[in-house]
Amino acid sequence: MPIASRSGRMEEFKRRVVELVPQGECIIGDAAALSSYGSDGLIRFRQTPEVVVLAKSAGEIHSAVKLCAELGIPFVGRGSGTGLSGGAVPPPDGVVIAASAMKGILEIDPVDRIAVVEPGVANLVVSERTAPFGLYYAPDPSSQSVCSIGGNVAENSGGAHCLKYGFTTNHVLAIEVVLPDGSVEVLGGESPFEPGLDLRSSFLGSEGTLGIVTKVWLRLLSRPEAVRTLVADFDSAESAGAAVSAIIAAGIVPAAIEMMDALAIEACEKAVGAGYSLDAAAALIVEVDGPREEVDALYEEVKSACVSCGTTKIREAADQAERSRIWLGRKAAFAAAGRLAPAYIVQDGVVPRTALASILGRIAELADDAGLRVANVFHAGDGNLHPLVLYNPDSPEESEAAERVASEIVELCVEIGGSITGEHGVGLEKACSMAAMFDSGDLEAMQRLRIAFDAQGIANPGKVFPTPRLCGDTPGRYRAHPLELSGEAIRF
Ligand SMILES: Cc1cc2nc3c(=O)[nH]c(=O)nc-3n(C[C@H](O)[C@H](O)[C@H](O)COP(=O)(O)OP(=O)(O)OC[C@H]3O[C@@H](n4cnc5c(N)ncnc54)[C@H](O)[C@@H]3O)c2cc1C
Repeated sequence: MPIASRSGRMEEFKRRVVELVPQGECIIGDAAALSSYGSDGLIRFRQTPEVVVLAKSAGEIHSAVKLCAELGIPFVGRGSGTGLSGGAVPPPDGVVIAASAMKGILEIDPVDRIAVVEPGVANLVVSERTAPFGLYYAPDPSSQSVCSIGGNVAENSGGAHCLKYGFTTNHVLAIEVVLPDGSVEVLGGESPFEPGLDLRSSFLGSEGTLGIVTKVWLRLLSRPEAVRTLVADFDSAESAGAAVSAIIAAGIVPAAIEMMDALAIEACEKAVGAGYSLDAAAALIVEVDGPREEVDALYEEVKSACVSCGTTKIREAADQAERSRIWLGRKAAFAAAGRLAPAYIVQDGVVPRTALASILGRIAELADDAGLRVANVFHAGDGNLHPLVLYNPDSPEESEAAERVASEIVELCVEIGGSITGEHGVGLEKACSMAAMFDSGDLEAMQRLRIAFDAQGIANPGKVFPTPRLCGDTPGRYRAHPLELSGEAIRF
């Protein structure tokens, strides 16, 4: 006899799931333990799950998803919980299926340069374990010591070095997935040129809405022969932004170009002591890598571009230790913002590179009007901003103002032809902003793809797609995106 009520189905799930995960663990009824899976890194969204399944194998994930499908129970896949858009927040009356205990590196093939890994392995571990073969895994989110490869796949994560090497999608050859109906598929293959529709790409960046990743084939790169890194100080964000444009216009694609404003420099310096100049209005970290001769030549060109744009000081990393110190400061930026204010919102948006300087001015105006401070640290080469909106959480007015400024920044990004997210994903936080970029036809097309994977709508529901009831958006006439208006994109 079918079990009709939601609570009845959940009780049935609790009873049966325990037997399906003999090596892993099921957390049921332990309020404190369950609550620690209630949010990701964006703690203002929270929902305590009914059950957490800590799987130890692909088979256990498979069994748990099959049971969800049978009983119509919503689930969310989870990695390390470092997401910054509420993507891993459990659906109401739903379960968490975590891959965080699946940390195996199953195979390293140094000849074909492929690593086969379980989804819970931390990003940085892949590079550490493949280093003895002279190889590494290129995408490097600042959270790379903790965040999981499964989470990276789901978010199509980026990082400082993605300017030259591309995002996660460029480094994942294939994935084994458990689809929401409980079937298991391998999408993609070891050859990058698989015939047929590229379903692997649909999954990359789908934020857990198409199923759960249980195994990943990663493309590895040879470690570059030479790497050179500098920090260039500037007395204005405009000059730093101009230097970014000058470097790219010279035809150079550095491994990374990162930018920090004065507040971000102050925060990182207080936290890490990376040796950044506290009197600089803005600083660029520029890194070039590749064959030694090429690197030496490009490095000189980068320095000239910085000089021609008025750099006030160039610090060159003398050795690997200094290079690591420079990067430690940058990668600690989000945590370091805690040195500036008791709370902050990390925003993530994209603007055309040429608009970097002007958007910083607009962000400063928004912050001034709201009586707040905003620190800016970002992947300048990609135009990917990370404004950190600082506020006091004890003040309801400041908290509200911070939320408002953070949203206005995203609206600004779209207005000038950018995007609502560069790498942190849409999740719960920006589901309502999707309508600012996509018209109802686009969103419907995405939904149709989603439904092809998940007819019941049980995989991470409520994420990515705007819910008209909650978002208040009204399907309307098609509005051209600013990129179309500027002639840089066409609609077909
Ligand atoms: C300090 C800090 C710095 C950061 N820097 C960067 C950065 O430079 N670049 C960047 O891109 N991001 C960055 N992030 C965001 C975050 O680390 C990435 O989005 C990361 O990929 C999330 O991985 P996770 O394992 O923590 O995933 P989670 O937070 O656990 O989950 C994120 C999403 O992935 C889904 N998911 C997780 N595992 C699976 C799976 N096995 N199968 C299917 N879906 C799954 C979840 O459902 C959720 O929607 C940063 C975060 C922090 C806290």
